[in-house]
Order: sequence, then C-alpha cells, then structure tokens
Amino acid sequence: MLNIVLFGPPGAGKGTQSEKLIERYKLIHLSTGDIFRANIKGETELGLLAKSYMDKGQLVPDEVTINMLKDAVSKHQNPNGFIFDGFPRTNKQAAALDAFLEEMNTSITAMISLDVEEVELRARLANRAKDSGRPDDADPKVIQNRIDVYKNETAPVKEFYAAQNKWIKIDGFGSIQDITTRLFATVDSL
Ligand code: AMP
Repeated sequence: MLNIVLFGPPGAGKGTQSEKLIERYKLIHLSTGDIFRANIKGETELGLLAKSYMDKGQLVPDEVTINMLKDAVSKHQNPNGFIFDGFPRTNKQAAALDAFLEEMNTSITAMISLDVEEVELRARLANRAKDSGRPDDADPKVIQNRIDVYKNETAPVKEFYAAQNKWIKIDGFGSIQDITTRLFATVDSL
C-alpha cells in the first residue's frame, strides 16, 4: 500500500493536491476537516461537537478525531492506499495512526510537507474565503488561531516522521501545476 500523509499549514494546498494524487495513484483521500464538515452539515452529534472547536480555529480533541479516522479507514476493503489530509495534527494522533496501520499490516510510506511562506498562506486563505463557504476562512482572528495552532501543535509532528526517515519537504510555492509536478516526482521516487 502507498500511504501518504500530506502535510502543511492551513492554505498550503493540501486539498487541491490531494485531488491530483488520488487520480494518479488511485488512492483514497481521507480529510478529517472534510469529514467534520460533512458531520456539521448532517447535524450529527459529532458535527455539533467538532463545530465548537472549528469555529474558534482550535483542534478537535485527539480521542474524537482518532476514533473518527479509524472508522473512516475501516470502511475500505483492499485499498491501494490512503492520502491522509489534515491528519495527524498532533504527535498523539501520529502515534495512534502508526499503531492502527500496524494492526492492518501496513504503515505510512512518507509524510510530504508542502512548504509555503506565511504571507502567501494568508493571501491564499483570504482568496479561498470568497468561495469556500468555510466560516473558519473568513475571520482573520480564526485564521491567526489556526496558524498559531499549526506552529505550536502540528508542526512538531514532522519530527515524528523525520525520526523514521519518512519526512520529505517540497516547495509549495508556484502554480498548482508546478506543485503537482514536484509532488508526482516525489511520489514516483518513493
Ligand atoms: P482543515 O479542513 O484540515 O483545515 O480542518 C479544519 C478544522 O477541522 C481544523 O481547524 C480543526 O478544527 C479541525 N480538524 C481537522 N483535522 C483535525 C485533526 N486531525 N485534529 C484535530 N482537529 C482537526
């Protein structure tokens, strides 16, 4: 199986690039943010809980997020592999994912980080807010909180994969096509 963690700050282009990867490598895309948003839309209990954190730009608690992710993975029989988008966001989530994949006799192939400067991120998020319909993209205070949470809690997750020699950084600056080309070259070399 080819299991990729696509990593990077909010606005780095993880969702956009995931689309390209699933098409080329026939992988299953699991975005915890998308699953939370679907639950909010469906007005489930999980959605209600997640919304209270997401609206503030905070992380949904690990326990809840990990269980939800495991459920989502388990729904697929004999997949080619997964793209984890927006997960893991804490070291606890990363350790839980490793243990869970081991039970399935598989593992993470690589974590690929999209490296984008903060000024560029803010510009992309402001632009995305125009048509994403995401309330967390529209409020500058919430955006700031998401960037801070990324720096403090999520960025250290790369060390988790670096320690396993699985961390690869690629330049996330340029056109969507430029970044896709770099990403494909990286995945082809795995
Ligand atoms: P995203 O769509 O990845 O930008 O995620 C949007 C929001 O969903 C985040 O700001 C968090 O509130 C929540 N979220 C998504 N993934 C996770 C995760 N792995 N752990 C905790 N919260 C998450």
